[in-house]
Amino acid sequence: MKKLSELIKAYYQIRELKEPTTTEAILWATSELGEVCDVLLELRGGWTRNHPEDKRDTVDALVEELADVLMMVMVAGHTIGSDLEEVLIARMKEKARADLTE
Ligand SMILES: [Mg+2]
Repeated sequence: MKKLSELIKAYYQIRELKEPTTTEAILWATSELGEVCDVLLELRGGWTRNHPEDKRDTVDALVEELADVLMMVMVAGHTIGSDLEEVLIARMKEKARADLTE
């Protein structure tokens, strides 16, 4: 199976998406985090929203928006030539003093 960073790069190519700068990727990640917040608020319920027909109050919607955040954070890493999946694995290894991939 391909690594997550490779899949994201392929996704960008297939969809012919514009490559963001680091700042733009972080802004998009923040925008996606706002969508996470929207779903969390809708899951709590009791709020009057401007467009109730667009309601996304499911755990599936929450998971999708969290995945969007993850992708944009990964893309931010790509913009500086870094594979954040590898970096995270290395940091956990360092902090846990154990190779968790074995
Ligand atoms: Mg989204």
